[in-house]
Amino acid sequence: MKTKPYNILYIAGYGHSGTTILDLVFGSAHDTFSCGELTHFTRQGFFEEYCSCMEQIKDCSFWKPVFENWQREMPCTFEEYKRLRNRYEGNRHFFKTAFNYLFPGKKFKLFSHCTELFYDEIHRASGKKVIVDSSKGSSRIFLLASFVPLSVIHVCRNFRGVLNSEQKDVKVDLENGIEAASPPKPFSRVLRDWVITNSTCTVARLVFSGKKLYFKKWIQNPTLLVKYHASLPNNFEKQAFKAPHMIAGNAIRMKPPQKLRRKTVLEYNRLTSSQNRLGLLVEWIFPFWS
Ligand SMILES: [Zn+2]
Repeated sequence: MKTKPYNILYIAGYGHSGTTILDLVFGSAHDTFSCGELTHFTRQGFFEEYCSCMEQIKDCSFWKPVFENWQREMPCTFEEYKRLRNRYEGNRHFFKTAFNYLFPGKKFKLFSHCTELFYDEIHRASGKKVIVDSSKGSSRIFLLASFVPLSVIHVCRNFRGVLNSEQKDVKVDLENGIEAASPPKPFSRVLRDWVITNSTCTVARLVFSGKKLYFKKWIQNPTLLVKYHASLPNNFEKQAFKAPHMIAGNAIRMKPPQKLRRKTVLEYNRLTSSQNRLGLLVEWIFPFWS
């Protein structure tokens, strides 16, 4: 493993598991910088999206120079980098990326090198020792581990909690931080994706000695997060959280400073009674992810 003046705290797991608020909480430590879901910066129209500083990313005082410097240094074009990203990230490329971590091909080496330059730039601009990336995907773990010391946190939220959250009909609203529409998803699709994501995250977590974090546990007892990030300040759980320049995460990054709410995470008011019963069965089969 290379030595670097920084390391990455990577938040992995299925969506709708509170990963953005977790990114904000970890970013409240004095030596830590919250980035959000960095994997998405190759998507169409990304630079028109909004940073948590309320500027468009193309105009943000932090990200504009980071992206400009990076693209100057990078040995390939941004278009080529996008193609590499689509080749190695996402659940369906998990085994290919894991294989390349062990036996890197030429294209993977290029992808890893360019990504390394990007994080070097974030480190230079932020001056922070820990960079939080809440991209969530499991193949990205192998990519990041190829160039930097990495702490992996696999967030697990019980199936009914995820399913209930997936029943919301979310529409695109760039100015309020919603970059992609998310119509309600059927039970079978949520189940398939939840199982695949948690399986691949489990493999990657075991390979890199990461830690598992249960959504239900930390939301009810936030102080346990110091076991996951030692530099969190005293009484951090009473603060309101706001990241200066977080991009591409959940829309709460755009809202006023967020306080932790120990709200009723056990209510699934969008689920029908049969979804609730079947969901309970899923949790009984997979207790280690619930
Ligand atoms: Zn910004």
